[in-house]
Amino acid sequence: MAETVTNWARNITYAAKEFQRPSSVEALRRLVAESAKVRVLGSGHSFNEIADPGADGLLLSLADLPPVIDVDTTARTVRVAGGVRYAQLAAAVHARGLALANMASLPHISVAGSVATGTHGSGVGNAPLAAAVREVRLVTADGSTVTIARGEEGFDGAVTSLGALGVIVELTLDLEPSYEVEQHVFTELSRFGRLPYDGPDFAAVARSAYSVSLFTDWRDPGFRLAWLKRRTDQPSVDFPWAAPATEAMHPVPGMPAINCTEQLGMPGPWHERLPHFRAEFTPSNGAELQSEYLLPWSSAVDALHALDGIRAVVAPVLQTCEVRTVAADRQWLSPAHDRDSVALHFTWVEDPGAVLPVVRRVEEVLDAFAPRPHWGKVFTLPASVLRRRYTRIDDFLSLAQSLDPTGKFTNAFVRDALDS
Ligand SMILES: Cc1cc2nc3c(=O)[nH]c(=O)nc-3n(C[C@H](O)[C@H](O)[C@H](O)COP(=O)(O)OP(=O)(O)OC[C@H]3O[C@@H](n4cnc5c(N)ncnc54)[C@H](O)[C@@H]3O)c2cc1C
Repeated sequence: MAETVTNWARNITYAAKEFQRPSSVEALRRLVAESAKVRVLGSGHSFNEIADPGADGLLLSLADLPPVIDVDTTARTVRVAGGVRYAQLAAAVHARGLALANMASLPHISVAGSVATGTHGSGVGNAPLAAAVREVRLVTADGSTVTIARGEEGFDGAVTSLGALGVIVELTLDLEPSYEVEQHVFTELSRFGRLPYDGPDFAAVARSAYSVSLFTDWRDPGFRLAWLKRRTDQPSVDFPWAAPATEAMHPVPGMPAINCTEQLGMPGPWHERLPHFRAEFTPSNGAELQSEYLLPWSSAVDALHALDGIRAVVAPVLQTCEVRTVAADRQWLSPAHDRDSVALHFTWVEDPGAVLPVVRRVEEVLDAFAPRPHWGKVFTLPASVLRRRYTRIDDFLSLAQSLDPTGKFTNAFVRDALDS
C-alpha cells in the first residue's frame, strides 16, 4: 500500500495492498464489485486486526462519502451515512430536539464501526449502541445493495457483523426527545466499605443513575472513582457511599480533566455528558491498548474478587480499569447477546509485550464467568472458546454465506475468531 494506514492507537499497521476513499456510493459499489478482498476502516479506534483485509485486499474508508444525516422528527428516526461519527450525528440530532438513548465513552468513533463491534456505554437499562439500529443498508459482494430492517430475517446478525457481511453505507436509528444529563463524580470510595468486598449491593450502585462507571487502577483494593450520569428527567437517586469530587477528574490518574466532558453536576445536553470525553479535544491520550470482557451481571462481584486476586500482576501495566453495566440485546455476535452484563474494561499501557501475558492471565481468572471479549479490543481467546460463549456463530456464518458466498468480506481476524 503506497500510503501507510494505522489504527488510532498506532499498534496496528494495516497490511492491505490498496487504500481507497470513494466519494460516492456508486464509486464504492464499483470498487467492491471489482475487488476480491474488501474491508472497511471506520474511524480506526479498534485495537486489533479486525479491519484489515490482509496483504491482497482493499481497505476502504467511507470518510469522503456525503455525510448524510437525515432526521425525521415525526418518526423520531435518523438515517445516517456509513462514514459519519457520533460527534457529528449527535450534534445534528440534538439541533432537531431529539436524542440517542446512549453513547460510548468518546464521540469520535464512527457509528457503523461502533455498532459492527458491539460498542456500548453504561447503564442497567442501556443495551449496546447497535440496539438503536432499526435498518441497515449494505453494499454486498457483487456491488448491489441490500436493506435489512428490524424484525426481518437475518437482522439479528446484520448489525453487529464485524464488517463481515458487506459495507454498511447507511443506518437508520431510533431517537427519543432530547434530554439533559448531569455528571457527578465521587471519590473516596473506601466509604463504600471497599466495594466489591464488603460494600453495598453492586446492583444498588449500578442502579444509582442512568449510566454508572466505576474506576480503579487496582493498585489498592476497591474503587477509586464512581462516575454517575443522571438524567434530569428521571428521579434523582442518592449515592451515599462516597464523597462528591470537588474538581473535575480524568479516568486515568494524573491526567488533566480538560479533555473530559463537564462534571460537578452541571446539567447539559445529553451528547455533551454521556461520553466521558469532549468531541472537540483529542480523546484519552492515544498511548494505550484496551481490552474488555462482558460477563453475566450476576457474576459481577465474584469476578471483581477474582481480579483483586491478581491485582499485583494487573496494576503494573494498567492505566485504568472501568466497570460498566450493559443491558442484553439480540444481536447474535453482541458481547451482551441475551444476557444483562457487567463490562470489565482495561486501559493498558501501550507495550504489547508486557500487556499480552497479563491479558491472558485476566482471561484465565475470568474464565469461570464465561466472559465474551469486546471485538474491537485486545484479547487472546481462541475460536474454540468463543464458539461456546457466542452461541449464534453458526447462524451468523449462514447469513454471511448467503450475502457473501465467496468470503470477500472475511479476513484473518474473522476466520480465527469464528472458526469459519
Ligand atoms: C479511546 C477509546 C475509547 C473507547 N470507548 C469505548 C466505549 O466506551 N465502549 C465500547 O464499547 N468501545 C469503546 N471503544 C472501542 C471502539 O468503540 C470500537 O473499537 C469501535 O469499533 C470503534 O469504531 P471505529 O469506527 O473506529 O471502528 P474500526 O476500528 O474502524 O472498525 C471496527 C470494525 O467495524 C468495521 N466497519 C467499520 N465501518 C464499517 C462500515 N461502514 N461497513 C462495514 N464494516 C465497517 C471494520 O471493518 C471493523 O471490522 C473505544 C476505543 C477507543 C480508542
